[in-house]
Amino acid sequence: MNLSYIINELGEERENYFGAIAPPIIQTSNFQVRRVDELKKLFEDEYSGYLYSRGQNPTVNILRKKLAALDQAEDCLVFNSGASAIFAAVLANTRSGDHIISVDKPYSSVQSIFDNTLSRFGVETTYVDGSRLENFEKARRPNSRFVYLESPNSWSFAIQDISGVAAFAKRHGITTMIDNSYCTPLYQQPITLGIDLCMQTATKYIGGHSDTLGGILTGSKERIKKIFDSEFLATGSGIQPFNAWLLVRGLRTLESRMVRITESSWKVLDYLKKHPFVERVLFPLDIDFPQYALAKKQMKNACGLISFYVRAVSREQIVKFCEGMKHIMMAVSWGGHESLILPRCTYIENIQFDAANPDHRMLRLYVGLENPDYIMEDLEQSFRLSF
Ligand SMILES: *Cc1c(COP(=O)(O)O)cnc(C)c1O
Repeated sequence: MNLSYIINELGEERENYFGAIAPPIIQTSNFQVRRVDELKKLFEDEYSGYLYSRGQNPTVNILRKKLAALDQAEDCLVFNSGASAIFAAVLANTRSGDHIISVDKPYSSVQSIFDNTLSRFGVETTYVDGSRLENFEKARRPNSRFVYLESPNSWSFAIQDISGVAAFAKRHGITTMIDNSYCTPLYQQPITLGIDLCMQTATKYIGGHSDTLGGILTGSKERIKKIFDSEFLATGSGIQPFNAWLLVRGLRTLESRMVRITESSWKVLDYLKKHPFVERVLFPLDIDFPQYALAKKQMKNACGLISFYVRAVSREQIVKFCEGMKHIMMAVSWGGHESLILPRCTYIENIQFDAANPDHRMLRLYVGLENPDYIMEDLEQSFRLSF
């Protein structure tokens, strides 16, 4: 399906709302039903129509159709956050006694679900270095039921051979899920590579303006309906109509924002690579990236997040560098209009700083929509101030 068609037309029924270009926000909790038979049908299967907005809502459904099409998936659910999308998908696919194989260092809330929540219900997780396919094979047990991937990781950009892992899991009847937040469906489509459930946070690039949270889950109709009927409805973790409307609005400019951010990212990457105070950069499509060949094979492009190691001799120097920015803000998250910086050494004290440990000298930059010169000038003045 054509990208411009998906973004501008798919799922919209403008004839039903006065030809309005922007869809209405159907801000309602419940829907009137005229016949008891109709009510009976909805009670038996809430997936079949509109009963209560914890289940389905027309504004949210416009978004669902677009997001499913972007992933080339049959169906989609949109949650209140990426974390709630992950929670519902993991819970729907595991039961007591199961074993999960997860890529190591997944997003923090995922690690918490596996280590703190599921462990209480007799579900064990093995973390593997996902750079080698055989590590998934080695970790497999007879009760392995679920494989969790995040490719690329949002700090190290570590990637997994997506079609390789999907084929391995299919051979053993194991369900696969991936966090595709870094790439978005514009730069990577895991469903087409054989993955069962594709998740991405909508808080980042889909929203694009740092004004709403959201989480997306796509997959086959059967898998998505199963999650809708149980975890989605039971926990009430679906997105609200207004936030869904913001995400439809975000989608209108997704492609043009990604193009701009991609162009700027290459400029900033080049600047950082040549910088005397920068020891090394990490970016999945940089020729020096350790998994460059695999990234090139399965990703259409990369943008936004760049990690880099500075030649700092103390933690104070990194603190000064981050606090010295005039425009680039220090904040978590990414994918919005604004450039951001995040130091890795937040969790240590000054005295614990070890210059020999590259992790302590690592920072993550998110390149936003500002003019790239504006971003580089800010980095430069702060480098001069602190190094
Ligand atoms: C932000 C993020 C999430 C969680 O999404 P929320 O919408 O914040 O709950 C998951 N994975 C990655 C890679 C993220 O960056």
